[in-house]
Amino acid sequence: MSGRLLPSAADPAPWQSGAKTDAAHLVLAPNPSAWTLDGTNTWLLRAPGSSETIVVDPGPDHPGHLEAIVAEALAAQAPVGAIVLTHGHADHSAGARRLVGLTGAGVRAVDPGHRLGAEGLTGGEVIAAGGLEIRVVSTPGHSSDSACLLIETEGSLLTGDTVLGRGTSVVAWPDGEFGPYLESLRLLRDLANSSNVQRLLPGHGPVLTDPAAVLDRYLAHREARLDEVRAVVSRGTTDPAAIVAEVYAATPRALWPAAELSVRAQLEFLRV
Ligand SMILES: [Zn+2]
Repeated sequence: MSGRLLPSAADPAPWQSGAKTDAAHLVLAPNPSAWTLDGTNTWLLRAPGSSETIVVDPGPDHPGHLEAIVAEALAAQAPVGAIVLTHGHADHSAGARRLVGLTGAGVRAVDPGHRLGAEGLTGGEVIAAGGLEIRVVSTPGHSSDSACLLIETEGSLLTGDTVLGRGTSVVAWPDGEFGPYLESLRLLRDLANSSNVQRLLPGHGPVLTDPAAVLDRYLAHREARLDEVRAVVSRGTTDPAAIVAEVYAATPRALWPAAELSVRAQLEFLRV
């Protein structure tokens, strides 16, 4: 699950499958919606010339999409050797089992319930595969099992749904929590300032090329929304739907259910 809570100002060039960096190739899943933007980004990672591909987020259980992933890897003479999940929401993980059947690769995930024939995924560890070293960064908040992946040699940070390519993400309460989400955004901002992070490769929407500015904007947006919720609560309103109607009045109604999850997460954070 994801979702943008702000309409985009202007729609840029269409976001579509293809090579996006030296090490990252996008296969865009055919599941566009208000929640998933252009669809789920399935990232295929490998160093140039490597004979192995790592798939990050197989996406929905859509046979054509999963076959396109396998075909891209085979065309590069680099069969899929590992599958990694940024988190377990279905738009990222539902195709994992079918992709395992097509490739024989295992699925690595923070949540043991999403692993298939492979070990887990732990913050701080480095995955050496596809000719790359990929550092796992634990970023709970959007969901309790969210993780980001850093390819420091080329400065690419895969953010799953912690940061999206347009608009903002959702704290998917009750599994997602507001306090950890703020901490994860601060951690990513510090990482962007201290490590080689030149771009963000999100779980939905296009690559973002100014990571520190994006993360500052995300933090400012979250803190501004929290102030708005706090102000409404201080006037005696604690019903989540009523708070959404006031704070998210300018947001399309299709996204209000997502907004309500974020509001419930904020109410819990404020201990209302
Ligand atoms: Zn998603």
